[in-house]
Amino acid sequence: AASEWEILTEQLPAWLEESRLQSHKGHPATYIPELAHAPADALGITIMSTEGQSLTLGDCGLSFTMQSISKVFTLILALMDHGEEGVFRKVGMEPTGDDFNSMLKLELVEPGIPFNPLINAGAIAISSLIRGTSPAEKSERILAFFRELADAPSLSWNEAVYRSESATAHRNRSLAYFLKDNRVLEEQDDVEEVLDVYFKHCSIEITCRQLARMALVLALNGKDPRSGRELIPRRYVQIAKTFMVSCGMYNASGEFAIRAGLPAKSGVAGGILALVPGRYGIGVVGPALNDKGNSVAGVHLLEKLSGEFDWSLF
Ligand code: GLN
Repeated sequence: AASEWEILTEQLPAWLEESRLQSHKGHPATYIPELAHAPADALGITIMSTEGQSLTLGDCGLSFTMQSISKVFTLILALMDHGEEGVFRKVGMEPTGDDFNSMLKLELVEPGIPFNPLINAGAIAISSLIRGTSPAEKSERILAFFRELADAPSLSWNEAVYRSESATAHRNRSLAYFLKDNRVLEEQDDVEEVLDVYFKHCSIEITCRQLARMALVLALNGKDPRSGRELIPRRYVQIAKTFMVSCGMYNASGEFAIRAGLPAKSGVAGGILALVPGRYGIGVVGPALNDKGNSVAGVHLLEKLSGEFDWSLF
């Protein structure tokens, strides 16, 4: 019988084109003006196996910004910097069921801490936990960590997207000032500096292939795919994967858990990082988003793959 990888190699081109047809059901994000230029019907995917195979298909030449996908890895870095106790003083562990930039429930978890680290309010709180003596040093530490995981020494942020977001981020600014008032951001945390770290990590520019490489490290429980060295402690990968399942696809996380059943994180530039633990790291890009802010074609393709190969964890 043909192996899963053989079937995948054979079928993926047709499945990708089928999913691409879904793109017209959505639109690239426009609330960050610079993201509006993205090609609406682009779709690309890279799948890397823990055995060293790799498949890259479709519009993988397209680079895009990580946006909310970066939150998974700043969470991990904050855990490495402060441990679980330090991190969970600032953010909770529960999904909200609300939009990613919602303010509705900020007062509901004691004492005014964001529900989880993957909504904007939570990720802004996490940005304040990244160690460094200046915002520039914090951003450089984030970059260095992401470069190692993506195996991409020249990874950097997209200056135009960074500026575009910073200039229009009235809502994120109000979330951050709210956090300051609630003392989630502390005396020494300058709100604008914390936001700068946040905007920069959201603007890190990446490709499907590099996204798949980051996912592969998670699929290996934090081990470097080449050397086997521990890049992330296993426990922190476990925490990140759990948040990806419960909150990774915003308020469509429950639906995605039922349809695909995989840890995944989406971003408003159209990227999705997903993994099949122990087996595959996956990076997808498709800039047209549905009303929940997830890539329409990307979600379609991941659900198809998971269904075909019975990848659901559940
Ligand atoms: N930088 C984006 C924002 O703060 C990230 C949001 C996202 O990808 N959902 O709005």
